[in-house]
Amino acid sequence: MTKEGKLIIFSAPSGAGKTTIVHHLLKKIPGLEFSVSATTRKPRGDEQEGKDYYFISKQEFLHRIAKKQFVEFEEVYSGTFYGTLRTEIERIWADGKTVIFDIDVEGGLHLKRKYDGSALAVFVQPPSLEVLKERLAGRGTDNHDKLKERFEKAEKELNYAPQFDIILKNHDLQTACAEAEELVRNFLQK
Ligand code: ADP
Ligand code: 5GP
Repeated sequence: MTKEGKLIIFSAPSGAGKTTIVHHLLKKIPGLEFSVSATTRKPRGDEQEGKDYYFISKQEFLHRIAKKQFVEFEEVYSGTFYGTLRTEIERIWADGKTVIFDIDVEGGLHLKRKYDGSALAVFVQPPSLEVLKERLAGRGTDNHDKLKERFEKAEKELNYAPQFDIILKNHDLQTACAEAEELVRNFLQK
């Protein structure tokens, strides 16, 4: 049995800035390692297999569900699955590191409940739904239908913020990154 370590969860509606903040933390704070999720969606931009995601087929995803290989998984968008592999967390803890997640809101709360006591769950909050829409569209990675689906989901997800340990406002990116760094450093010292 691997000794349990700590977990840091960053959740938010799509476009709020969690990936950007998590990448910043990975650069700045030693001892963190990103939990690479499995997904059935196709790679986007310069995303790399095994670094950003494990890109697998739906058939393989369903097979892994049946084998109980996921700590949590979700059909985040209709027909597109995402999930956290148990082996991913165990591998990172076996290296004596802290796992950091970039995960959707329901998945984040699921992990928080499962690992309560060892986890810090942060909700990244955009200034407004309008700004969120601008960021998502500005990222330029999703077509019209995908954007619509993400906006609709985002509206619901904003209501979950109070269930997290901390709400981190992402208005100015530099300020948000600095605050995230302080939060994580304090949590790691505990
Ligand atoms: P998420 O991972 O939550 O979907 P991203 O990190 O991909 O969000 O950010 C969405 C887009 O918004 C990206 O293009 C990113 O560069 C931009 N962005 C993130 N934070 C800010 C901010 N504070 N101000 C302006 N743009 C931002
Ligand atoms: P994207 O397609 O933009 O990379 O991710 C879509 C959403 O799925 C984001 O909110 C992202 O955080 C979330 N996500 C990524 N990995 C996982 C995972 O393992 N489980 C869950 N539940 N959501 C995930």
